[in-house]
Amino acid sequence: MIRVVLYLLISIFLITFLRIVIGIIGKGVSDLAGPSKPRDSSPAARSAATGGELKRDPVCGTFVAPSASVKKTVRGEVLHFCSTACRDKYRES
Ligand SMILES: [Zn+2]
Repeated sequence: MIRVVLYLLISIFLITFLRIVIGIIGKGVSDLAGPSKPRDSSPAARSAATGGELKRDPVCGTFVAPSASVKKTVRGEVLHFCSTACRDKYRES
């Protein structure tokens, strides 16, 4: 009779132990899946990082960031072009 109770207690202990182990493994898997979520990289956040100021290309009307634009000074005013093709087109006109 005592032996039966002992087996019962051991089996209850084993089940509890296994549940804890499975719970730890399950939590570990969910923690690994969590950080893999894609990070927010919206264009608004990126333009804020570059200053957010855009210059208009007078030839084609495209807005370009001054750091990435093709510049040309005309009568003391700096003009920003999206490409050298637009800059050359402006010179012709
Ligand atoms: Zn252009």
